[in-house]
Amino acid sequence: MKKVIDLRSDASTLPTEEMRESVSKALLGDDILGEDPTVKELEQTAASMLGMEDALLTSSGTMSNQIAVMVLTDRGDEVIMGRDSHMYNLEVAGLATLSQVQPRVIPVEKGYYNTTDIEEAIHSADVQIAKTGLISLENTYNLNEGSVVTLENMAEINQLAKKYDIPIFLDGARIFNAAAYLGVEAKAICEHVDAVQFCLTKGLGCPVGSLLLGTKSFIKKAKRIRQRLGGGMRQAGVIAAPGIIGLNKMVDRIKDDQETANQLKNAFQNLPGVKLVTEELQTNIVSIEVVKENWTADTLIKELKKYNILVKKIGPKKARLVTHYQITDKEINQVINGFHSILK
Ligand SMILES: *Cc1c(COP(=O)(O)O)cnc(C)c1O
Repeated sequence: MKKVIDLRSDASTLPTEEMRESVSKALLGDDILGEDPTVKELEQTAASMLGMEDALLTSSGTMSNQIAVMVLTDRGDEVIMGRDSHMYNLEVAGLATLSQVQPRVIPVEKGYYNTTDIEEAIHSADVQIAKTGLISLENTYNLNEGSVVTLENMAEINQLAKKYDIPIFLDGARIFNAAAYLGVEAKAICEHVDAVQFCLTKGLGCPVGSLLLGTKSFIKKAKRIRQRLGGGMRQAGVIAAPGIIGLNKMVDRIKDDQETANQLKNAFQNLPGVKLVTEELQTNIVSIEVVKENWTADTLIKELKKYNILVKKIGPKKARLVTHYQITDKEINQVINGFHSILK
């Protein structure tokens, strides 16, 4: 059988051989009791890389996001966030059900948070109005776009948040893609936020997990909430071991994913039947629209499948392609050839 080229998400990455081997060698203990040395090593490595005081391993980005909001808000607060953010759209109304907060969404165009929009959305409590408890950013922003929020923009939001004494959380599921584009370390992005989450399972290629980071007192509270959600894990070193490799070996190569995405983008510019939706490609996500007569995204997906190529539908006529470490020049060529074959 021919190998499947999976471009639906960077979350479809399988662990590297080294990651698989690390699992069998990992030193283990009961992490609920704080006795798993491999988990501790991962958390310390992440905290030091991102310049945060402390870190906590959780089972997923969604869990980290929801824990962060639960720690940082009171019931009945509003949380300001971008309209296309993951937390608002793809976390099963966790904000409403777990934290019991109300999202106040603002438009975010190409990764730019307008501080006027944010300031207008900030409310102090009064007899009728809910107080703003948190500003939640996403970088890279929009999972169909992968737009980078600049350091300048992060800094001005931080200044505004300080003025109103509101904490900032960053959903940094793909923070290393943002850092690679900006040519900085992820630490420089985290300087502007109080707490942050990143996924081990996207560009870093690990099978499971997310790291939630913040101050020591934030993480102490987060740990109890993780437990309440049933997210405390025993010998979690089997999850942490690949994470350590992800942080040590995969971060520096993430820029390659922007390069392969760029090759796709260039190919789509000259391909009849599809149109680029991504205007300015910054990271590893390329979105396209099907313009071939009578074709829909479903047609495209069905036809590409015949060539063992998987892409993700993001609209009736739109699809998304995400590059990652398993997509090398060889796969890119196969994908471009596949598109030529089905669209000719
Ligand atoms: C993938 C993703 C998440 C959620 O991560 P899971 O580990 O799949 O729960 C959250 N936010 C953003 C921006 C993401 O891309």
